[in-house]
Amino acid sequence: MIGKKLIDVMPELEGQVFLELLNKVYATGEPYIGKETPISIEAKTGVIEKCFLNYNYQAYKNAADIIEGILVFAYDVTQQVTAREQLERNAEMIRNLYMNAPAFICTFQGPEHTYTLVNPSYQKIFGTRGLVGKPILDALPELKGQGFDTILDNVYNTGETYVGIEIPIALARDEGLKPEVRYFNFSYQPIYNEHKIINGILVFGYEVTEMVIAKKIQSESDKRFRILADAMPQKMSTTDAEGNLTYLNQQWVDFTHKSVKEINTDGWKSIIHPDDYEPNQHAWEHALATGEKYSLEQRFRCHDGTYRWHLSRRVAQKDENGKIISWIGTYTDINEQKVFAEELAKQVQDGLKLDKQKNDFISMASHELKTPLTSIKAYTQLLQHSFESEGDGEVGIFLERMDNQITKLTFLIDDLLDSSKVKAGQLVFNEKLFDFNELANEIIDEMQKTTQTHTINVKLETTDMIFGDRIRIGQVMSNMLSNAIKYSPAANKINVTSIHKDDTILFCVQDFGIGIRKENKKHIFDQFYRVSGTVEDTFPGLGLGMFIASEIITRARGIISVESEFGKGSSFCFALPIENKALKLLKA
Ligand code: ADP
Repeated sequence: MIGKKLIDVMPELEGQVFLELLNKVYATGEPYIGKETPISIEAKTGVIEKCFLNYNYQAYKNAADIIEGILVFAYDVTQQVTAREQLERNAEMIRNLYMNAPAFICTFQGPEHTYTLVNPSYQKIFGTRGLVGKPILDALPELKGQGFDTILDNVYNTGETYVGIEIPIALARDEGLKPEVRYFNFSYQPIYNEHKIINGILVFGYEVTEMVIAKKIQSESDKRFRILADAMPQKMSTTDAEGNLTYLNQQWVDFTHKSVKEINTDGWKSIIHPDDYEPNQHAWEHALATGEKYSLEQRFRCHDGTYRWHLSRRVAQKDENGKIISWIGTYTDINEQKVFAEELAKQVQDGLKLDKQKNDFISMASHELKTPLTSIKAYTQLLQHSFESEGDGEVGIFLERMDNQITKLTFLIDDLLDSSKVKAGQLVFNEKLFDFNELANEIIDEMQKTTQTHTINVKLETTDMIFGDRIRIGQVMSNMLSNAIKYSPAANKINVTSIHKDDTILFCVQDFGIGIRKENKKHIFDQFYRVSGTVEDTFPGLGLGMFIASEIITRARGIISVESEFGKGSSFCFALPIENKALKLLKA
């Protein structure tokens, strides 16, 4: 450097204050003192660095008192400056923290615990009341008797930090207001002076009133929930979001004699019937994974070792974001219903089986009876024929009676066969066009021949040809007529009418006999139904005629009905549609 110009040695000084200042000192001779002046200077590494300097420029003169040069003293104060700046920044940060902290901070000094510092959060607790400079009990007289001065004394004297959690304190929110209980978490910490002697206390804390009240409400509602759960007849449980049991109501404990802890350890396996365990696991895992409702019928083991059916339901309780927080389960004892339903189903099954067996038997028996009966009928007629030619009157009469009885027996067996066919859905219909009135007259003539006591009065409107099974519809007419004769032994007439209206024919047989009670009417068309009673029981029959008639008329798309007055007589009617597609087709 020696012998060189400053600017040549340190060209980075160009534009900084130093050259100018040197010039000024050289020109005026006045010294200059610079303090913590920033300077950009090239370091050994060749990088320009920012440093701070304390320096001194002082002119010196020659013998002729003329300024010859400048004496420069300078030393690097960068470290001190940056350290101080850091300290200032830290202090600022602490101040900010202290001023803006949501937690409250304050300091006490001396054995009286006089407020020295109070941050805004602390001040806010007490409104506009002045605190700094006052001992705690003077500033906040409502604290007297609440024990905090004793705690503070203890910290001050022993140096032991005090930590209070959810401590209730009665405080007035402002001057003149009534104290109210609020809750705080806070600490009292001793402050030491430079001689390591306690001279104050640092208070740090925050208010938790809302949280404590919320907790109290929660525990109140938990208590209420438990009372409710124990009072209800159903079993109840709660589980956490993962399905771990958290609560069982009294009914559960009474039933299993197991606690929440035992079930959580032994698992539900110990109380669920082995056959129901798999389905339960499956349904429960699905519910836990999806949050969907769980509903299952399963058997639970009672403490006495028996199992009872329950309807289990579990519903997820979710927070406002839809996240599951717990599951609430109810378990309703449905053992009685379940056992009853199973018993009923079994009885119905048995009944159906029995019904089928009965029907099969009737069908088989009537088939078997039919063949010998047909032969007997044929032989009787042969005998009749030969006795007629030999002219033996008495034998002829007996044979005729025998033939009548055989005819009756044939009808009975035919009815039995027909009814078993109806039951088996095998009644065959042979439909064709026929003249309705012609059929009615034929049947009426036949029936008239069978009775000497009754006169059948006939009033038939002109009808058209109708489409259906002539023999079956004839069977219905004769059944209605023979019943009318049979069930009116004291009467002497029967009325038969037919009306033809709006493509429908209505055919009725009216008698003046014993009639049917109102309550029995709805069963008349049931299989094997016979009205019972002292009068009714005297009439022979199987209770099949009207059952078969009803089937025939229904299959022919018609309606059969009965009107009756007990003790006065009955009217059996059926209505059949005349006009139908088949008929139109045939007509065309
Ligand atoms: P049954 O062979 O017993 O006559 P039906 O099926 O023909 O059987 O009739 C069923 C029951 O309806 C009869 O047992 C009888 O009690 C009652 N019933 C049928 N027709 C008449 C009628 N015209 N008057 C009174 N009761 C009747």
